[in-house]
Amino acid sequence: MHFYSCTQIKRVRLVKRADGYYVQFCIQADRSEVIEVTGSAIGLDVGLKEFYTDSKGIAVENPRFLAKGERKLNKAHRRVSKRVKGSKNRGQARVILGKRHLKISRQRRDHAVKLARCVIQSNDCVAYEDLRIKNMVKNHCLAKSINDASWYQFRVWLEYFGKVFGRITIAVIPNGTSQECYSCGTIVKKSLSTRTHACKCGCVMDRDWNAARVIFGRGLSTVEHTGTWGNTLNACGEMTATDVEAILHRQVNSVNQESPCL
Ligand SMILES: [Zn+2]
Repeated sequence: MHFYSCTQIKRVRLVKRADGYYVQFCIQADRSEVIEVTGSAIGLDVGLKEFYTDSKGIAVENPRFLAKGERKLNKAHRRVSKRVKGSKNRGQARVILGKRHLKISRQRRDHAVKLARCVIQSNDCVAYEDLRIKNMVKNHCLAKSINDASWYQFRVWLEYFGKVFGRITIAVIPNGTSQECYSCGTIVKKSLSTRTHACKCGCVMDRDWNAARVIFGRGLSTVEHTGTWGNTLNACGEMTATDVEAILHRQVNSVNQESPCL
């Protein structure tokens, strides 16, 4: 409160979390940083096994925070259900459960933010799939893992940092990226368990790597098509870090019923 004058504070938001109340002050500031052109561009294919595989063939491991914290989480769940409804003990057990959820969501957020910043800083142009996570989560068997992977969060942060560092972010049409051959464009049908892409044209490679190259190709053609390296590709408009949080909060609440106390 000593650093900023009242006129600089544009919004104040009160947030209740499992571990207490927070006050967020939204300050008007121009957050744009000039960093060197890297001369590098990539396409990203997100997955369950790997968090993403890029078009250069580099894969980033999936941290799977929920899977790792699940034992503790289940224990906290059981403790709540064992306590008498309306009792003080049950209230306490619920607070602990809330904190466990909070920890996992913070781990996910931290991972998504750091990774997104790193990807944006080391590339001039980043292409990724315009995924409809909500539809994918409807597939019950995969829902937990998909929520755990927090791609959506990652994507929103990519777009935010794209804006901050003046990089291009392109969301491409996701249809059939894993089936298409990047080199000749032929559709090579494969099930989820087929890990290798093998095409008649002689192209044999990891399926995720192939998909990332297809995504990269689609991204490039978008850039060539529109002929702009400007802000039109950054769909964020005027977005602040607090807005990112708000968007994600809404998304998480509508998708992830498991963590009510993010
Ligand atoms: Zn081919």
